[in-house]
Amino acid sequence: NVTEPHNRHITIIGAGLAGAVLATLLVQRGWRVDVYEKRGDPRVQGYGGGRSINLALAERGRHALRLAGADESVMRHAVMMRGRMVHFLDGRTDLQRYGRDDSEVIWSVHRGELNVVLLDIAERAGVRLHFDRGLRDVDFDARIATFTDPRDGSAHQVAFESLVGADGAGSSLRAAMTKRTDLGERTELLGHSYKELEIPPAADGSFPIEPNALHIWPRGRYMCIALPNDERTFTVTLFLPNEGNPSFATIRNGADARALFERDFADALPLIPDLERDFEQNPTGLLATLYLDRWHFDDRAVLVGDAAHAMVPFHGQGMNCAFEDCVALAEHLDAQPDLASAYAAFQAERLPNARAIQAMALENYLEMRDRVDDDDYLLQRALERKLAERHPAHFVPRYSMVTFQRVPYATAYERGRQQRELLIELTRGHHSLDTLDWHAVDAAVHARLSPLSVDA
Ligand code: FAD
Repeated sequence: NVTEPHNRHITIIGAGLAGAVLATLLVQRGWRVDVYEKRGDPRVQGYGGGRSINLALAERGRHALRLAGADESVMRHAVMMRGRMVHFLDGRTDLQRYGRDDSEVIWSVHRGELNVVLLDIAERAGVRLHFDRGLRDVDFDARIATFTDPRDGSAHQVAFESLVGADGAGSSLRAAMTKRTDLGERTELLGHSYKELEIPPAADGSFPIEPNALHIWPRGRYMCIALPNDERTFTVTLFLPNEGNPSFATIRNGADARALFERDFADALPLIPDLERDFEQNPTGLLATLYLDRWHFDDRAVLVGDAAHAMVPFHGQGMNCAFEDCVALAEHLDAQPDLASAYAAFQAERLPNARAIQAMALENYLEMRDRVDDDDYLLQRALERKLAERHPAHFVPRYSMVTFQRVPYATAYERGRQQRELLIELTRGHHSLDTLDWHAVDAAVHARLSPLSVDA
């Protein structure tokens, strides 16, 4: 009887971040869940490559982790980031707080540690995990999935009732679905790529720069960022265009990278002793946005997380959005009478929100690399903070709506647009907040912005 949850079975492809959380949420609801992962078990063999790659975790992600019973274990490894520490070209620094106080911060978590914690929790909850099983092909009529074991190339066939693709941006399930139905897929390359570098601990074992911040070196068309790790290192990411000067076309080896750092990131250079080696050995990552018009194939398959909507990383929301997808899918599966209706309702709710965060992530790249040291922008930000204090119900900065609240991304996007127009209008012709007519400012806020309801 497929309408009884405890008889239902779901097969998830990918035991990454979304796969592990979704599996846990479904098992808690009485589903039987099998998860198939292409790689070996990271708890046995260490996380791929052992490089220290970290992610910013925010409220949406933490909410999902709380529901999955994982927040406490994850937060044990997390490092608080209160704001952006901007490193100017002349060596000055400025901490721009993200929120009002330490209740509004983001958290740096190590991808590998996070994955290991989530897998342990999933397994303890009753999820069956199958490693070294890469999805190769799907027969949707017979409902048989074929997996390859990467260790010996052997094929393994598994019967399924329904598949969930949590297999990331290069999703094999998406490719299999596309052979049967047009998902309306298109990918837009950003034209910029990234390279990861590492700042080790200081000689005495401490953090070599302020630990509780996301460091940014904005330089117009390009930038560096650094996020802290709990082992007192920082992961640095250098973002450069693919063409032009400087770009990955002109910065081709370690010596070129050193010259670029000497000129543009001089205060970061002494912190990265293995700059040349990191630059030459670490892969160059592509950045792109993946858009699909459809995320499911009737009741047989549905996509979540990066498999459905990979985005550029500049809002630090890809994982947070993927976790929010997991909660939404689990809730629709509870509420709907059958899988096809649940998948359709999930897509109807989440697709417009994914589009909104994809757009905001693209906009944030411009903001981070080009605007955080710009005078007009700083004045608008100062007014934004004032209005958020004076009118907390009407004016919530877009960054806060996305990062510290769970209002739908599409709402945050639309309100953010209205608020930005207002900030530009109100600061036009001013160089400081002191010359503003606060009566007119307050009246404009009330006239133009309705109070933001938390479940707007
Ligand atoms: P993934 O984490 O990619 O997991 C997919 C899993 O599926 C993997 O385990 C993979 O091995 C497995 N798999 C793949 N193919 C198959 C197959 N054929 N069969 C079986 N298994 C398969 N997000 C944030 O929220 N905050 C950040 O600060 C942030 N920073 C980022 C920085 C960079 C440089 C990048 C590139 C991304 C960043 N993101 C960030 C985005 C985040 O990494 C992704 O959104 C998130 O990992 C998506 O989770 P997922 O589970 O959908 O996919």
